[in-house]
Amino acid sequence: MGYYGFGFFDPTYILVIIGIVISLWASIYVRTTFNKYDKFKSKQNISGAEAARYILDNAGLQDVEINEIAGELTDNYNPRDKTLNLSQSTHDSTSVAAIGVAAHECGHAIQDQKNYIPMRLRSFLVPAVNIGSTVSIPLIFIGILFSMNMTLITVGIWLFAIVVLFQVVTLPVEFNASGRAVRILGSSSLIDNEEVSQVKKVLTAAALTYVAAALSSILQLLRLVLLFNNRD
Ligand SMILES: [Zn+2]
Repeated sequence: MGYYGFGFFDPTYILVIIGIVISLWASIYVRTTFNKYDKFKSKQNISGAEAARYILDNAGLQDVEINEIAGELTDNYNPRDKTLNLSQSTHDSTSVAAIGVAAHECGHAIQDQKNYIPMRLRSFLVPAVNIGSTVSIPLIFIGILFSMNMTLITVGIWLFAIVVLFQVVTLPVEFNASGRAVRILGSSSLIDNEEVSQVKKVLTAAALTYVAAALSSILQLLRLVLLFNNRD
């Protein structure tokens, strides 16, 4: 039995650092891409909220309410109360970036309408993920403190694995929502082809942050498995 598990700075910690670097790079990339295309005002002067209303109505989702919420890039679709929540900068802005983000959230509303399976699976995992993300690491620590109690450590690792699974399931949900957004915008008269390709760049950058998050938690899980495997 090694002693690596007691400190955070064992050799496998490099996996965590790689994850942090990937996530940092992705968040900087999405910010710079978003800021760039936030300066491109839509040729038809359409706001994020107007684009969203148009897309939702066309999809038969007249009952989905559009709200304005605080924060930056906090935009989301809430399947529980069927509301599309757009941050101030998306709601009122007429930029290509804002239209892209608004259309992406509409993509989630349409997934909900069409009972898109990965989205259902993702919602199903939420309660377990809430528990897993709160107690998995503390449980592993307690396991270490209680003279390497492998039962506690194993339960902690499995709970962490549920969090990883959630982030992996998030990927098709996000890519699909962006795909829908680009297709709908492309076949609408809201924006032209040049603007559609700009939207594509914004949404690809946004999707990369989800890939980075999934990748860095896979690396963390790998680290936990490496640390505690063959410890008897
Ligand atoms: Zn999304």
